[in-house]
Amino acid sequence: MRILVQKFGGTSVATPDRRAQVVGKVSEAVTEGYSPVVVVSAIGRAGDPYATDTLIGLVKGIFPELPKRELDLLMSCGELISGVVTVSTLHSLGFDAVLLTGAQAGIITNDTFGDARIIRVEPENILKHTEEGKIVVVTGFQGVTEDGQITTLGRGGSDTTAAALGVALEAEAIDIYTDVDGIMTADPRIVEDAKILDVITYNEICQLAHQGAKVIHPRAVEIAMQRNIPMRIKSTFSNAPGTLVTNMQPDMNAGTDIVSDRLITGIAHTPNVTQIRVGTVDAADVRQADKKIFKAMALADISVDFISVQPEAVLYTVRDEVADKAVKILQNMGFNPEVARGCAKVSIVGAGIAGVPGVMADMVEALAEAGVTILQSADSHTTIWVLVHKEDMVGAVQALHKRFRLGV
Ligand code: ADP
Ligand code: MG
Repeated sequence: MRILVQKFGGTSVATPDRRAQVVGKVSEAVTEGYSPVVVVSAIGRAGDPYATDTLIGLVKGIFPELPKRELDLLMSCGELISGVVTVSTLHSLGFDAVLLTGAQAGIITNDTFGDARIIRVEPENILKHTEEGKIVVVTGFQGVTEDGQITTLGRGGSDTTAAALGVALEAEAIDIYTDVDGIMTADPRIVEDAKILDVITYNEICQLAHQGAKVIHPRAVEIAMQRNIPMRIKSTFSNAPGTLVTNMQPDMNAGTDIVSDRLITGIAHTPNVTQIRVGTVDAADVRQADKKIFKAMALADISVDFISVQPEAVLYTVRDEVADKAVKILQNMGFNPEVARGCAKVSIVGAGIAGVPGVMADMVEALAEAGVTILQSADSHTTIWVLVHKEDMVGAVQALHKRFRLGV
């Protein structure tokens, strides 16, 4: 049996016309001899009647502190609705299909409601149905704990479902269908001439995704990478070949090593970041302070980024929505933090950055020419980040895309 996992995002299942196109992609897979296992997200995006955010809105107005367990039960409904509608579309077009919930599909998670981790997949139930010749549709974004509690997997969770199923079913590939033709050098919503990348390594897309390119969830890439299952990012609405995510070792690929000579793969951005600066009195004070601060943030489940410990201050960033919580904790500890809300993180990602002098200089120059103020910067082997004012984010991404000639 040749299994192909096909995941369809929220925009792909949003309308009857689009769902017909989804069935077209499933039908192509059947024609090519595959047993498709189809993963669906909830219908539409925030504001649409059955989108996850809309479901959350139903209860947040009544009582903001609904237990996470119940919230997960509610959030799992979006994919259920979408799954039933997809199965009925398949039936209406003559296909034999069955819908399985995360639990029925054997997706076992830990009990971190709202952001559960998949521990393992028990694929027997799916395989039973595929062996009977049925198309199996699985609700994305959800699983079940060992003791039967329904959990959800956090933002981008349907990508993770698809990747975990791909590994467990030893699929030939994991196809992530969305509303763009593939992974691009920047978000096409803000860079007009962003270019499709034909091939990208797991590491490169993982970096891009961690830095905000939300076309795929980084956890999904990490899961697929463990077993080297190829992923393809494709459009539901075109026949473009899409982007192949693979592990392009130069020796596996003699002569056609198109990936490793690329200096920069793409530009990613993360809006809605708050910068926090905690001033301290002297160096000894800083050593104590940073330890205490980051321990307190970890205890409160606040993830921190862009950490910079300086002689007279500790600087870091958090997501806007947890900024108030972070500030309150710091004040309770006796600190008097300075807070800059409305920042954004802009990153250039590329395996070729390491060891190439002048990339940072080019970045700084391009941003200065575009009138962008750099609030903070940091770099690693494959990524250079800058923190900028939110108003400068789009201009910064566009200027960097142009400077590094990613659109040509
Ligand atoms: P889905 O509902 O299919 O999961 P998402 O909204 O999660 O779709 O992801 C697709 C979107 O990701 C695109 O519409 C695009 O605006 C955005 N995106 C951000 N960065 C990139 C990038 N580098 N390449 C392609 N798309 C990107
Ligand atoms: Mg997505």
